[in-house]
Amino acid sequence: MSLKSRTAVVTGSTSGIGLAIARAYAREGANVVINGFGDAADIEKERLGIEDEFGVKAFYSAADLSKADEAFNLVVEAEKTFGSVDILVNNAGVQFVSPVEEFPVEKWNLIIALNLSAAFHTIRAAVPGMKQRKFGRIINTASAHALVASPFKSAYVAAKHGIAGLTKTVALETATFGITANAIAPGYVWTPLVEKQIPDTAKARGLTEEQVKKDVLLAAQPTKEFVTVDEVAALALFLASDEARSITGTVIPVDGGWTAA
Ligand code: NAD
Repeated sequence: MSLKSRTAVVTGSTSGIGLAIARAYAREGANVVINGFGDAADIEKERLGIEDEFGVKAFYSAADLSKADEAFNLVVEAEKTFGSVDILVNNAGVQFVSPVEEFPVEKWNLIIALNLSAAFHTIRAAVPGMKQRKFGRIINTASAHALVASPFKSAYVAAKHGIAGLTKTVALETATFGITANAIAPGYVWTPLVEKQIPDTAKARGLTEEQVKKDVLLAAQPTKEFVTVDEVAALALFLASDEARSITGTVIPVDGGWTAA
């Protein structure tokens, strides 16, 4: 399942799921564009580490994906640098937990911009080149919250349901051009995004942080275990492969059975 000669753009890949996906693609020989926030020295170390370990080219973009022009230009710059964007993973995302009537408007706007609209902007930038080359893999990191809701996550659940709709629509529009569009719907994966929401969830529900982990997060997941970033990356790798060419328009759960209930 080699990705040699492919270029992959993975948004939000300085941490968590995105980093695991970028590394999985590089391991299979793809050049990668990593993106996201964080300590500049740590990011440079990661970028060089990918190049050294896997013998590919890795480029870093600090684009703020909550801004339409920066999201669009991320793909334009990647095409200029590598000649094509063959695999686009829309993964950057943030969470905020609050009752709907107290939900800060700026948090709503940020989550819709980053978790939903950014994917529209990168996709509209990437699709013309993919159509021309008759190959493309668009993979959106959705969430179990693309399929079911949880209280206190109005913006996140709205954005993730939106990503599912965008994925299906793009799949239909691009199906005859060798392009696939799919969404991965992870359950709870142990990453900084989950870790950071524990104190606010504890506050919103009047629980201790330990109770949130056991009785709220893992209560939803029949396996009673967190999903790992490598398990999500393994699916993203398969969806990017030639063998996955007939899989399009799907929202695939990796959620330990959560959405089966
Ligand atoms: P994470 O916090 O480890 O990573 C988020 C990444 O997004 C980081 O690289 C961060 O720098 C980047 N980012 C944040 N704001 C950005 C911006 N404005 N522009 C560009 N990059 C930005 O979180 P994660 O858990 O790996 O989340 C990745 C994706 O997976 C998100 O879309 C999230 O909604 C989704 N997801 C996570 C879980 C989970 O349980 N962790 C479950 C389902 C879906």
